[in-house]
Amino acid sequence: MSKDRVLITGGAGFIGSHLAERLLRDGSEVICLDNFFTGRRDNVSHLLKNPSFEIMRHDIIEPTLLEVDKIYNLACPASPVHYQHNPVKTIKTSVMGALNMLGLAKRVGARILQASTSEIYGDPKLHPQPEEYWGNVNPIGPRACYDEGKRCAETLMFAYHAQNNVDIKVVRIFNTYGPRMLENDGRVVSNFIVQALRGSDITVYGDGSQTRSFCFVDDMIEAFVRMMDSEEGFTGPVNLGNPRESTVTELAEMIVEMTGSRSRLIYKELPQDDPLQRQPDITLAKEKLSWEPTVALEDGLKKTIAYFKETIAH
Ligand code: NAD
Ligand code: UDP
Repeated sequence: MSKDRVLITGGAGFIGSHLAERLLRDGSEVICLDNFFTGRRDNVSHLLKNPSFEIMRHDIIEPTLLEVDKIYNLACPASPVHYQHNPVKTIKTSVMGALNMLGLAKRVGARILQASTSEIYGDPKLHPQPEEYWGNVNPIGPRACYDEGKRCAETLMFAYHAQNNVDIKVVRIFNTYGPRMLENDGRVVSNFIVQALRGSDITVYGDGSQTRSFCFVDDMIEAFVRMMDSEEGFTGPVNLGNPRESTVTELAEMIVEMTGSRSRLIYKELPQDDPLQRQPDITLAKEKLSWEPTVALEDGLKKTIAYFKETIAH
């Protein structure tokens, strides 16, 4: 049998690089496209000697033509700090990027998986969030470029599916963490670990009572692969995440304890529209993909702390 040819957009990023590694291990040929906005060559440099791996600088707001069997469309900055840096570009990446990748999928007959997000639920009024929930998004707030961009990407996926029979898979990813997040990524897990290791203040936004549910990257990759290989016609959207919910203060305290840090918690203003609570309902993923997370938060944090200990400049 010939090898699967798989395209990963955003393949030099945090999740994309782990996915590339996994797919190569499974015997696929992997092509990554990345504009290196939040991705790094370093994340995939260990894969470059593999003849089944290629990475190209390319911005997905421009069309591309590649003969592939599967497309994972992951390109898009995921940290609020980065996606709010250039909101118009974030919208272009989500919307024009999805259009270009769907056009490619249609032309070459590839199956396409779109990385959507729990952010499409906005500041949810229903808890935990099931896929049927339509969400509570502020369309003109600072997070809108990301939230609405991803909502539109989902809409495009389903429109191409209905109109052109493109074989789509949509996953709604909840907060995912692990090695290879950027030191200056701005998301909570990497911020707190880097601050704790440096002995600097831990910046809790708001009163720290807001919640998130954190999934270790290896669990997420397993779910991606299962979704991509799921039965034809199962399009999703499907929630992927770890249902264990923690407050931001609990997370900070865990990290301080696990790193043995002397850092203290300081409280800063809560960013506008920061969701108060978030927890995935993963009933559908359990049923359709026989998947649920297996890595406990303590174990995932241990691995992530070990990574940052090795890599950050003190
Ligand atoms: P990341 O920022 O590490 O990776 C995104 C990658 O996309 C980077 O390599 C970046 O350089 C690249 N990129 C951005 N814009 C691009 C463009 N226009 N053209 C080509 N490449 C571009 O983030 P991540 O955490 O690895 O997220 C990957 C995907 O998963 C994103 O689509 C994100 O929205 C989604 N997601 C992630 C999380 C999470 O918690 N990590 C949660 C929900 C959704
Ligand atoms: N957060 C925080 N301190 C930080 C970074 C983030 O308290 O240094 C909070 C943030 O306000 C939010 C939660 O942690 O309530 C998760 O933030 P993150 O940016 O990681 O992801 P998202 O808000 O997109 O879920």
